[in-house]
Parts: sequence; C-alpha cells; structure tokens
Amino acid sequence: MPIYEYACGNCGHEFETLVRSGAAPDCPSCHSTELRKRLSVFATAGSTAAANPVPAGPCGACGHPDGPGSCALD
Ligand SMILES: [Zn+2]
Repeated sequence: MPIYEYACGNCGHEFETLVRSGAAPDCPSCHSTELRKRLSVFATAGSTAAANPVPAGPCGACGHPDGPGSCALD
C-alpha cells in the first residue's frame, strides 16, 4: 500500500498517510480535505547509478573472439 505525503492547504500541516483507493484523506490537525499531494517518500530516491554492464567477452572490451586487443589491430 502506498504512502503519500500531503501538505494541508488550510493549516499547512504536513503528514504522511496510507491511501486506499476511493478514500479521501483529511488533515489530522484540522480535518480539512484541502490537501496538496506531495511526492511519495519512496519516489524521491532518484539517483541510481546508471549501471550499463558490458558483457565480458574474450577481448575484454568488445567481445572479439580472437583475444584481448584483437579488435584494435586492424
Ligand atoms: Zn490542516
């Protein structure tokens, strides 16, 4: 079940809550339903390293079957 962050548009209170589909959350402080939805705390972990693994072939760089460096010798 996703957790969402909300900021109350009435009193400014910020809180997290579980949201079921069809249910309208309200501010736990003033019970206003004027809420601004913020990003989920799970969605903000953005910087994953762009891992682009190169398959290790015989050449070590390009996968040339004749051995290391063969692709550089033309
Ligand atoms: Zn409020």
